[in-house]
Amino acid sequence: MPIATVNPATGETLRTFEALGADGIEERIAKAESAFRGYRTTDFAARAALLTAAADLLDEERETIARTMTLEMGKTLAAARSEAAKCAKAMRWYAANAERLLADERPAEADVADSGAHQAYVRYRPLGVVLAVMPWNFPLWQVVRFAAPALMAGNVGLLKHASNVPQTALYLGDLFHRAGFPVGCFQTLLVDSKAIEGVLRDPRVAAATLTGSEGAGRAVASIAGDEVKPTVLELGGSDPFVVMPSARDELDHAVHTAVTARVQNNGQSCIAAKRFIVHDDLYDEFAETFARAMRGLVVGDPLADSTDIGPLSTEQGRADLEELVEDALAKGATALCGAGRPASRAAGWFYEPTVLTGVTEEMRIHREEAFGPVATLYRVPDLDAAVALANDTPFGLSSNVWTRDVDEQRRFVRDLQAGGVYFNGMTASHPALPFGGVKRSGYGRELSGHGIRAFCNATTVWYG
Ligand code: NDP
Repeated sequence: MPIATVNPATGETLRTFEALGADGIEERIAKAESAFRGYRTTDFAARAALLTAAADLLDEERETIARTMTLEMGKTLAAARSEAAKCAKAMRWYAANAERLLADERPAEADVADSGAHQAYVRYRPLGVVLAVMPWNFPLWQVVRFAAPALMAGNVGLLKHASNVPQTALYLGDLFHRAGFPVGCFQTLLVDSKAIEGVLRDPRVAAATLTGSEGAGRAVASIAGDEVKPTVLELGGSDPFVVMPSARDELDHAVHTAVTARVQNNGQSCIAAKRFIVHDDLYDEFAETFARAMRGLVVGDPLADSTDIGPLSTEQGRADLEELVEDALAKGATALCGAGRPASRAAGWFYEPTVLTGVTEEMRIHREEAFGPVATLYRVPDLDAAVALANDTPFGLSSNVWTRDVDEQRRFVRDLQAGGVYFNGMTASHPALPFGGVKRSGYGRELSGHGIRAFCNATTVWYG
């Protein structure tokens, strides 16, 4: 893929960029290694001051960077503004909490004595240069979610961003530089994904984190495995949104949330609810109101305030989505709405909000991630069927369940195969809560204490 900004709302190429050559890559890795030697010895207060300065700059520049994101990948301007605000908040959260999260851990005195020591503790030390391979869907947030904890832990970062968001990628490198981080602490590598293997095999690079597709995750994790370097993988998802009978009194709220959960970010979010699993008692009413609400969404110019859904980010992304829907329709699914390109939009990569019913196991969409505004709707007779269907996916990122029944809630917490179980609401990440999945959604956790410790060396310090 060329490294370029191509406006998904028009298909127009706005800017193209030269990929870094071998010398440029070498220079950046060397700078990163050299920066780590000094930066690792700084204290939490110094790092927090730098990260807070970055958050302040981001707040001041929110409008500009939000427009850049919208032009590069098509999210609505409103969504881009909130993404930038969320990033500044996460930076401040880690600036305020990293020291506590990485405080020395002291085992019980009896256990210390039993180990033969008069004193022992665990110290979280940084690992070094971490390579971040990131996707275009939340071009600021996916990076900041890694960078804020990594920098607070004393690591330094090399960013390989998706090829369709180069301006956002360059902005991030520049932001940390202007905030005052020492040269080399956070750098953007404008490179093709083929260059990643060399970077990851470089002995000066200690670890990698990747958010993106299963294929990219597998490629990076295999190389890292071969080099015995740790990785965190945050891959796709096909999260269930289960509605049980006790949600009857708040069905409107559930439907409204279901729509937002599906179409957020033009439907291109790993934690978007994608499979809607509704109990027989509420199914007909849910299906009707959900389809009506999806049909009523405004698809259009992502820069306009009135727009709910902008274009898909790439032409290929829309083609992939169309294939999934066409496969389902050919095998007998029914579209309650959508299932095509909006007639009013000749240019750009728009797709209508779509609701499919009658989805069966033979259809690809039953197992694959639909990365766009397409929902599948299933009817279930009881709790057992709801749990079984929710788990009938290769993915296990998060899950959403609408029920006020406490016994049912216990059952979902016990049995859902996912990295999150969200009741009576939709999945949303927060710096204080771990984020990540099981099964093909990846491994390891981002955010919270789990996220910051992912790239630390938990060092046993023992005094005889
Ligand atoms: P990719 O997984 O291909 O891209 C994500 C990042 O990985 C990009 O920086 C990309 O670089 C890089 N990359 C891709 N292949 C390799 C490789 N072999 N080795 C190293 N790095 C690599 O996502 P796509 O944009 O192609 O989207 C495809 C599908 O992936 C989506 O439809 C969706 O299902 C899923 N996806 C999930 C995301 C999530 O948040 N979980 C985010 C994005 C996509 P480059 O851009 O240069 O190819």
